[in-house]
This record gives sequence, C-alpha cells and structure tokens, in this order.
Amino acid sequence: MNDCIFCKIIKGDIPSDKVYEDGNFIVIRDISPAYKKHLLIITKKHIASVNDVTENDGELFSSIFSVAKTVAENENFAGTGYRLTVNCGKDAGQLVPHFHMHILAGEPLRNL
Ligand code: 5GP
Ligand code: ZN
Repeated sequence: MNDCIFCKIIKGDIPSDKVYEDGNFIVIRDISPAYKKHLLIITKKHIASVNDVTENDGELFSSIFSVAKTVAENENFAGTGYRLTVNCGKDAGQLVPHFHMHILAGEPLRNL
C-alpha cells in the first residue's frame, strides 16, 4: 500500500527503531509509548485489520506469539510480564490500518 505508514516503515522509507525482523514480521518501538516498554509486531504483508485476515494467513500468524516471547526475553520483561493487544477498527481505537500487535510492559504512561 503506497500511503500506508507501516508499509513505508517496512520498506525503510520511514525510519524506525527496529528490534526484530523475520520473513513475516518486524518489531519496532512505538513512537508514542503508552507503557514504559511499548513495541509493535507488524506483519510484513499489508493486512488492514483483523477483519481482513483470511484462512490463508494461518501460517503467517502461527509464529506471532513466539515472536512476542522472543522480544519479551530480549527486552528483559518476559519474567515480569507483559500485555499483548490488537485493536480492530474505529471503536477499538485502531489508528493505523495495517495489522499490528502491541507488546506492553512496565508502567502505563497513557491510555491505549
Ligand atoms: P493502533 O491505535 O492503530 O492500535 O496503534 C498504532 C500505534 O502506532 C500507536 O501506538 C502509535 O503511537 C504508533 N505509531 C503511529 N505512527 C508511528 C510511526 O511512524 N512510528 C512508530 N514507531 N510508531 C507509530
Ligand atoms: Zn501497510
């Protein structure tokens, strides 16, 4: 998608603080953290929201929790705990229409 901010980050057209990458996902630090530690797992494939996930995406998503766990270990909060959040659509407050899962740890700083 040409005008999608996360597609531009994936292409490297917009800079980001990337902590992890594999064939299906990148993980970056959120530009406006809602928790002391706030990262985003972003699909490399442009999927607008959970509403746009298809059965064909099953393999893609099969590793998303192990990506979350790996990042939590690398960031040293696997032991203390963390939240994983996916917002879908307007009423959930989804601002960026490209699938992402929030990884949230430490103290809350603002509402998500
Ligand atoms: P949503 O509300 O769509 O679930 O979450 C979007 C998240 O993306 C927000 O927490 C917001 O701070 C973050 N975000 C928006 N634009 C950028 C950006 O250009 N870079 C980074 N790193 N995060 C962004
Ligand atoms: Zn996109």
